[in-house]
Amino acid sequence: MISKRQLKEFERLRIRMVEEQLERRGISDPLVLEAFRAVPREYFVPAYLKNSAYKDTPLPIGRGQTVSQPYIVARMMEMLELSGKERVLEIGTGSGYQTALLSRCCAVLYSIDRIGEFVLKARQTLDSIGCLKPFLYTGDGSLGYPPKAPYDRIIVSAAASSVPPSLQAQLAENGLLVMPVGPSYGQNLLQARKKEGKFLIKECEGCLFVPLIGEEGRAGS
Ligand code: SAM
Repeated sequence: MISKRQLKEFERLRIRMVEEQLERRGISDPLVLEAFRAVPREYFVPAYLKNSAYKDTPLPIGRGQTVSQPYIVARMMEMLELSGKERVLEIGTGSGYQTALLSRCCAVLYSIDRIGEFVLKARQTLDSIGCLKPFLYTGDGSLGYPPKAPYDRIIVSAAASSVPPSLQAQLAENGLLVMPVGPSYGQNLLQARKKEGKFLIKECEGCLFVPLIGEEGRAGS
């Protein structure tokens, strides 16, 4: 249970995080910034890390996985160029933090994680903050989620050496896909725009993500 006083303090830290970690580093999309001002990160981290919820760092969420650094999440969301009207597929639900942020910036959100225990926990956390919109699934997201395809946007928060063919196929015409691509020791954020069946690729800054494990994920997984 978080007391009223703690909630006020978390709110203060959240506003400071947006100013110092996001705006100062060039994040300017109003939809993204507003989502970060609204979603309480302290609900999505383990109890023993609540006081670190607004640090400028990824935090462990169990099973060797992390909730990503706020700046990287914001950067990826900005690269998605959301207007609020899109149908989005998120791969790598994890704690559900990014799910809550995304759901404020799009029309329909599907999120999938290969670890069923994360999906259950994320559902509970999202419900507890009144975030009821996202549809959550357990499964191998390297294959996308065919039943609801095509998607206007796809965001992958785990790394692979290239964009899985199933994700390329499930992206709608004029759609955008954002994911970390590169070797396991370091990747770049990649934005792929589908135009007349072809992909226009933009590579952005460096990052370090856990592997996308699955049939079309990192080789050997
Ligand atoms: N965005 C999450 C958050 O806000 O907490 C953090 C995601 S964490 C960096 C990466 C997630 O990708 C893990 O939860 C992991 O289980 C998931 N993952 C890895 N391979 C996957 C796959 N093939 N399908 C679905 N999820 C996968």
